[in-house]
Amino acid sequence: MATERILLCLAHMSGREIDYINEAFETNWVVPLGPNVNGFEKDLEVFVNNRHDEEQLHKKVVALSAGTAAVHLALIACGVKPGDEVLVQSFTFCASSHPITYLGATPVFVDSERETWNMDPDLLKEAIKDRIAKTGRKPKAIVPVALYGMPYQIDRILEIANRYEIPIIEDAAEGFGSRFDGQVLGTFGEYGVLSFNGNKMITTSGGGALICPDADKAREILWYATQARESYPYYQHEAIGYNYRMSNICAGIGRGQMTVADEHIEHHKHVQELYCELLKDVRGVTMHCNPSDRYDSNFWLCTATLDPELRIKGQEKVYGKVIEGAVGGAAGVTHAASSAVTDCQPNDNVEALRVALDAANIEARPLWKPMHKQPVYRNAPAYVNGVSEGLFKVGICLPAGPYVTDDDVRYIVDSIKAAIV
Ligand SMILES: *Cc1c(COP(=O)(O)O)cnc(C)c1O
Repeated sequence: MATERILLCLAHMSGREIDYINEAFETNWVVPLGPNVNGFEKDLEVFVNNRHDEEQLHKKVVALSAGTAAVHLALIACGVKPGDEVLVQSFTFCASSHPITYLGATPVFVDSERETWNMDPDLLKEAIKDRIAKTGRKPKAIVPVALYGMPYQIDRILEIANRYEIPIIEDAAEGFGSRFDGQVLGTFGEYGVLSFNGNKMITTSGGGALICPDADKAREILWYATQARESYPYYQHEAIGYNYRMSNICAGIGRGQMTVADEHIEHHKHVQELYCELLKDVRGVTMHCNPSDRYDSNFWLCTATLDPELRIKGQEKVYGKVIEGAVGGAAGVTHAASSAVTDCQPNDNVEALRVALDAANIEARPLWKPMHKQPVYRNAPAYVNGVSEGLFKVGICLPAGPYVTDDDVRYIVDSIKAAIV
């Protein structure tokens, strides 16, 4: 039995964070701007503009209060208005699509392909044609998502987006530092979203950033993020703005985190490799891996799928009682569930494995439930092929964070083997 609970991905401090925070206090920069914010943005720019074996990019980065805020402002910058449609990957966390509804626009969900589990380019093309045929208008943006860090088929998605002249907003919130053809995710599209929430690849306690194509676009995002003020000696407003700037304290944490970002990413990749090695002979359990050399996932979370035939101890009894609190609901409040089951949920063997690992002090989690299967989005158009729903039923997320040691991975794999009938 593990003495301390092994968590999916827990923030890990470098030790430098506190120096940057102290500096902010000593220089009285305890506000949503200042030297740490500027320094963190510079660090992020160096990080995202670095291409392996190629010339450098020239993207600008704006630090914000959350990844969700970054999605929201990117949509505004792409001109999304009430009544518009935005194409978004269905297999994602709700923060990819909720800001579309904040703007009174409609998310149009696009299902995934099997290789990366991300937006299916063929379905994307079909969806664009069909929306144009049905509404007479083009969707305003395309939002692919690097689920669990895995890069999407950005070469094909870019080709389609360029053909129809629709901007791409990459949701790389989970894919910080993941690369496709050696280039960092978030730098291919018009905008790229990053998140520094407490459980992401790096943290600022809470925070996010938007990667922008140039200094002018970055200035526009910054303007919206600071209440959209005009240049007068008094408050003059000609557009609606937001209070979305990152605080100088949080940015201090971010600067400290950037000193270990590469180490963190290497660690996640190492944990993934170890899972693959130790699980390769376990029948019925399949790790989700990079489909080819072009893909370089950060493996923010390591994920596996279970063969529906695989029998897990106790699977006859799962879903017997209503759960209290949500999986992943450590933060905030969750509504009490009205039933123990829904019409779309992980298979019994997946839930039984989650329960078995939980009893062994290991946090595991089902894959994200696709947005087109969420009651709140029941009326949103969706272009589906069954892939994300199928994966949701058979998939599970395994711990991958900086605190997960080689011994922990061995213990987790032994616990999986022990749970198999
Ligand atoms: C975490 C996350 C976000 C939002 O980030 P926050 O910083 O939590 O607001 C957006 N998209 C995806 C896919 C995420 O996982």
